[in-house]
Amino acid sequence: GLADKLQQTFKKLRGRGKLTESDVSEALREVRMALLEADVNFKVAKDFVARVKERAVGQEVIASLTPAQHVIKIVYEELTQLMGGTQSRITISSRPPTVVMLVGLQGAGKTTTAGKLAHLLKKQNKRPLLVAADIYRPAAIKQLQVLGEKLELPVFTLGDKENPVRIAQKAIEYALSHARDIVIIDTAGRLHINEQLMDELKAIKNTVKPHEILLVVDAMTGQDAVTVAETFNEQLGIDGVILTKLDGDARGGAALSVRAVTGRPIKYVGMGEKLDALEPFYPDRMASRILGMGDVLSLIEKAEEAINLEQAREMEKKIRKEEFTLDDFLDQLQQLKKLGPLDQLLSMLPGMGNLKKLHGLELDEKEIKHVEAIIRSMTKKERRDPSIINGSRRKRIAMGSGTKVQDVNRLLKQFAEAKKMMKRLQEMQKTGKKGFKLP
Ligand code: GDP
Ligand code: MG
Repeated sequence: GLADKLQQTFKKLRGRGKLTESDVSEALREVRMALLEADVNFKVAKDFVARVKERAVGQEVIASLTPAQHVIKIVYEELTQLMGGTQSRITISSRPPTVVMLVGLQGAGKTTTAGKLAHLLKKQNKRPLLVAADIYRPAAIKQLQVLGEKLELPVFTLGDKENPVRIAQKAIEYALSHARDIVIIDTAGRLHINEQLMDELKAIKNTVKPHEILLVVDAMTGQDAVTVAETFNEQLGIDGVILTKLDGDARGGAALSVRAVTGRPIKYVGMGEKLDALEPFYPDRMASRILGMGDVLSLIEKAEEAINLEQAREMEKKIRKEEFTLDDFLDQLQQLKKLGPLDQLLSMLPGMGNLKKLHGLELDEKEIKHVEAIIRSMTKKERRDPSIINGSRRKRIAMGSGTKVQDVNRLLKQFAEAKKMMKRLQEMQKTGKKGFKLP
């Protein structure tokens, strides 16, 4: 998918020290291809790449970042911006009830989303009322009633003989007299956009004046979803989009293009069929997911699971007493290796990012293998006290581990630095400054 493609592209960049303009151009061409393959709108992809290029070439590289990281940072920021920058919430009226109208084509997920949204709002101590205004689709009313029962929430219906405008109107009266503070109207869709559908929706809109008109679109339909959003916005006016079925193998194009094409933000995303599978949409989190940095919080969680707490305390003690040996170093590397892509993880962990930057400990998977091999080629005594590792021992270790003497030298230097650094961070922590904390 898109995430894999972009990660591959950036992996190529990472391998280099300095980036030339043609490195950047090459990478951005691949970014553009990846976006198009993910079904991102052509113009959106083109403008996006142009913006990234302008920033990547025109700007000074931040001292603490490698050129590759710098490009990734810009791409991350621009992706976030493309999707609206910050989270867009729904408007809650100061005079209840807040009226939310869900619109969209048949099968997009309106009825399901009505239930999910009601569930989400109920958890926020709101008192939603579900309104069955789809009088055409067989069993549409029943579908909403079943959801209402599950959620223990009232569902307003006047059957399928009454017209949707009157249903919506009566529902609001009902909400007022029964102290329901949010009215969620589930409207009818059609297979395609047509005049009849739009006229009906406009009539409801003009009568009940919803605070939020949310368009529900199916992410699996890619660019079609974006076209639908454009048309609904032009003809009816929408306040935001709910993108459903993002749990399937949607290519992501819709998520990336909707905002840029329509000017309307994605407010929620549907991540499954269950009632709790609706999430607020966070552009920054989506951008990091696409770039494969993963969710910062879930990374930290993962780290906490894998690094045994007991061991961490043990390590802390050793650092304090300056007993931190190459064996411990190796242990720690192996702990980290369990967690997946290392460079990503390190930059996520509090303190670790700095540690890596400060000491050039570029821990990619291949290098870790080298480091492991080198340490394993040392004797127990050498691991405990690296100061005894003289020239001939260095030669032996290099031979044994299939590396060069320079590699052994570098590792020993890094280890000494890391040790010093850990000590210093510990002291900082003791004196109450914000810094490195062992998990
Ligand atoms: P409506 O015609 O717009 O009211 O669409 P429905 O709410 O009836 O949903 C159509 C189908 O899509 C149903 O089978 C839902 O279970 C499914 N669906 C809705 N949202 C999601 C989602 O976020 N993920 C997945 N996997 N399925 C969804
Ligand atoms: Mg429906």
